[in-house]
Amino acid sequence: MNELMNIKIFQENLIQWYKTHGRDLPWRRTKDPYAIWISEIMLQQTQVETVKPYFLRFIDTLPTIESLANADEDTAFKLWEGLGYYRRIRHMQEAAKDMMLRHNGTFPDSYEEILKLKGIGNYTASAISSIAFGLEKGVIDGNTLRILSRIYNRQDNIALDKTKKAYQILMDELIKDCDPSDFNQGMMDLGAMICTPRNPKCDQCPVQSLCMAYAKNTAGILPVNIKNTSKTDIYYITAILKKGNRYFLTKNEEGLLQNLYAFPQYEVESPLSFEDAFYEEHGRNVRLYEYCKEIKHVFSHRIWHMNVYIGEIIDDDESLEHLYDEDALNALPISTAHRKVSELRFY
Ligand code: SF4
Repeated sequence: MNELMNIKIFQENLIQWYKTHGRDLPWRRTKDPYAIWISEIMLQQTQVETVKPYFLRFIDTLPTIESLANADEDTAFKLWEGLGYYRRIRHMQEAAKDMMLRHNGTFPDSYEEILKLKGIGNYTASAISSIAFGLEKGVIDGNTLRILSRIYNRQDNIALDKTKKAYQILMDELIKDCDPSDFNQGMMDLGAMICTPRNPKCDQCPVQSLCMAYAKNTAGILPVNIKNTSKTDIYYITAILKKGNRYFLTKNEEGLLQNLYAFPQYEVESPLSFEDAFYEEHGRNVRLYEYCKEIKHVFSHRIWHMNVYIGEIIDDDESLEHLYDEDALNALPISTAHRKVSELRFY
């Protein structure tokens, strides 16, 4: 596979297949680096089908770098609500402001400059460079690592950084002297549609004749992907606190879900301790009176166990801040975990 002739055949077979069978996706109808950037960031942790409506709504509402840079936080976060991993939108706004300052509101056209933008790693920089600017930068992600591992019949553990670095070199060799945009997108689609993690469709594969795993019947055990997946469990008491027909929520000023609104929650062991903790933080008396259920929410490195209670604010203080009626609550940007809590308010 390292001989030039075979690389040529690999490229031709892949690109021809991509042009005939590749997926028709909204972000593929443009070469606008801004739109490609938005789609790639959304796709980092989210399935293609879920991303489609979010992408169209986002581009419709904030169509330019300038509009994203100038958008108020609540608008930007509302457009992201439900996608999760909210640091992505926070970083995108920072990057958009950076481009306004350092690049006159335009997207930088070199891999190195793209990589300097907040929230952009090697994969996203390679995707934007190749698709929008035609640069020869191969994308490395789960799909391409799997394909390369099978094509070359290699048993390196793809969870390790050193494997990713070695495979980046292979990808950058494979992408030379062809259309980088079609090549990378062909690899993405081959991984998503044909060379899938389980039961790859080798009989429909455009590069089967070059695949060493196919020849040696080892595709079923490749790639080797052994990770340490230890996660931390965190147990909260979370409360839906009512005052009349309004609910108590605050905006997170920092942490994992910064800028999103949340119901109050504390790492405490009893409703009584919750009431004390709430008084300590907000100077108001509350009473929890009904247990709903546990909501479990899994983040990349932690699991939240939210034991949800219904309660009320006892103090007669109509001026109390942080209270939202139904309409106001529905308009707030709220993380997926707390959106699940809010669904229990009619419990
Ligand atoms: Fe993957 Fe099979 Fe194609 Fe090899 S022949 S690249 S294992 S789908």
